[in-house]
Amino acid sequence: MPSEFDLIRRHFTRTPRHTVLAVGDDAALLQPRAGMQLAVSTDMLVAGTHFFADTDACDLGWKALAVNVSDLAAMGAEPRWAFLALALPAPDEDWIAAFAEGFFACAERFGVDLAGGDTTRGPLTLSVTIAGEVPPGSAITRTGAQAGDELWVSGQPGLAALGLAALRGEATLAGAARTRCLQALQRPQPRVGLGKALRGIASAMLDVSDGLLGDLGHILDGSQVGAILEAGALPTAALRATATPEATWHRCLLAGGDDYELLFSAPPERRGQVEALSQALHLPLHRIGTLNPEAGTLKLREHNGTLVHLTRSGYDHFR
Ligand code: ADP
Ligand code: MG
Repeated sequence: MPSEFDLIRRHFTRTPRHTVLAVGDDAALLQPRAGMQLAVSTDMLVAGTHFFADTDACDLGWKALAVNVSDLAAMGAEPRWAFLALALPAPDEDWIAAFAEGFFACAERFGVDLAGGDTTRGPLTLSVTIAGEVPPGSAITRTGAQAGDELWVSGQPGLAALGLAALRGEATLAGAARTRCLQALQRPQPRVGLGKALRGIASAMLDVSDGLLGDLGHILDGSQVGAILEAGALPTAALRATATPEATWHRCLLAGGDDYELLFSAPPERRGQVEALSQALHLPLHRIGTLNPEAGTLKLREHNGTLVHLTRSGYDHFR
């Protein structure tokens, strides 16, 4: 049986590109670029809670890093270094090799060095810490939104949740729709370029991981504003194309989770800049509503103009 050190050397040691000292010593040495602030975040994925234990190891490796990269994107920061803490039930080398392949594919895609970690025996759990850089004063937090700002979301939220529903046998998906939803679930694409480009434009931002409404609630609470969403402006095209019942995809859109799209607010006079960014990045950005001074309230303007109250039924792990 390979020792912990053999496993780390064989599978988790790659030549770093911008790290003074990476895997192998008691601590890593990181040198941020001159004048940059560090943005740091940790996310844990537990088998049975955040993913099925039989999930493809390569997909899991990608996702374990991608969800952390997404947290930095949501701050407008550039990801640079990751730390990987792994609890494994048994050292299955094929599994570890596939996991590492997915992890490093994501690391290369987003310019991240794996700088260290920890490996131990235990119930399958993956914890990634990520560190990146942002110029002082330009990080985009959840607290800067103002009444009157417009609310935007990137891409197509809901697809990942629909993919999960299909895996659970709660929805039927076929052909290209199934492929697209499973891809969204298993290979999320963090919006790093968008996050960075929104510095100086977005007033508040987060990445949608627990559902659009639930996560929007964090901006409303953080910024002490309310929101009215426009039913007619919500992105629905790709969800309709899945040929699932409207009630199913509608729930996935508003309260699904695992989207890793960016939800942000921006003053109306920035609208042109946001639209130009959408063009430049070839990424749809949808203006889905506006913020108002009624702190904490969440309403939807239906197609016929009626205003209805919404609950924040985003997924809450302690409910
Ligand atoms: P220590 O006992 O000093 O904490 P470890 O044996 O835990 O050292 O780790 C040895 C080296 O391997 C350290 O540099 C650590 O950061 C790195 N490391 C351990 N596990 C991983 C992993 N899963 N991925 C990346 N680096 C790892
Ligand atoms: Mg250790």
